[in-house]
Amino acid sequence: MDTASICLGSGAVEFWDSRPVEGTIKNVTVSRQGQHWFVSLQVEMAIADPVHPATAQVGIDLGIATFAAFSDGALHPPINAYRRVAKKKARMQRRLARMVKYSCNWKKQRQRIAQLDIRIANCRHDFLHQLSTATSKNHAVIVVEDLQVKHMSKSARGTVEEPGKHVAAKSGLNKAILDQGWGMLRGMLAYKQAWRGGAVIAVHPRYTSQTCPECGHVAKANRVQQALFACVACGYTYHADVVAAKNILALGHRERLNACSPR
Ligand SMILES: [Zn+2]
Repeated sequence: MDTASICLGSGAVEFWDSRPVEGTIKNVTVSRQGQHWFVSLQVEMAIADPVHPATAQVGIDLGIATFAAFSDGALHPPINAYRRVAKKKARMQRRLARMVKYSCNWKKQRQRIAQLDIRIANCRHDFLHQLSTATSKNHAVIVVEDLQVKHMSKSARGTVEEPGKHVAAKSGLNKAILDQGWGMLRGMLAYKQAWRGGAVIAVHPRYTSQTCPECGHVAKANRVQQALFACVACGYTYHADVVAAKNILALGHRERLNACSPR
């Protein structure tokens, strides 16, 4: 790393130059996270259309107990970064509430809470970047569920006219969804695939947890337990989330074939 400087209205500011700048700088953004300041440079440059180096395809089932199950059998547990430190944060917030507002100690405590929030976000970002980079590198086509994460996280409480059902259970689920950042993972996969020349296909997750990938039999009874799938027609058994991921991949195949065939 080197130091460089930029001119901001009142004068020059030095910063650590973490990587060489390529292309023409179009935009400079200075931002602050807690006690740290960041400079982002937006550049414009011509690049050739990328061709994805891999040929493999994968379906991904996103869940609570298993964060991401892959159709090839890989299981990624959740990090639950938020829950691990939620208790600590609550304790810090209680202490803040007892302090004299706008006092020195109050300000310091607020700073500490902000730092904790940044740490949680960094943990989650790190986890999602590692997972999305590895997945994008190894697969030309990634099929995911069209979950409408935002919609799910809003709908639990409902409206006055139409109060939501199972509000407590759903808000717990929603918190977990947001905590693990399914939407963030989808976004990362999309832009990383675009860089490499791969594709992300979103399919409707209908019956993906009830369909047998071996014989195609669809039944609620196929899902024996949260984690176990056992087909009542042909006897095929496997991890339920991996079965869902296999079905998601198959739906993605179908969608691609439909898109390619003349109508
Ligand atoms: Zn079957």
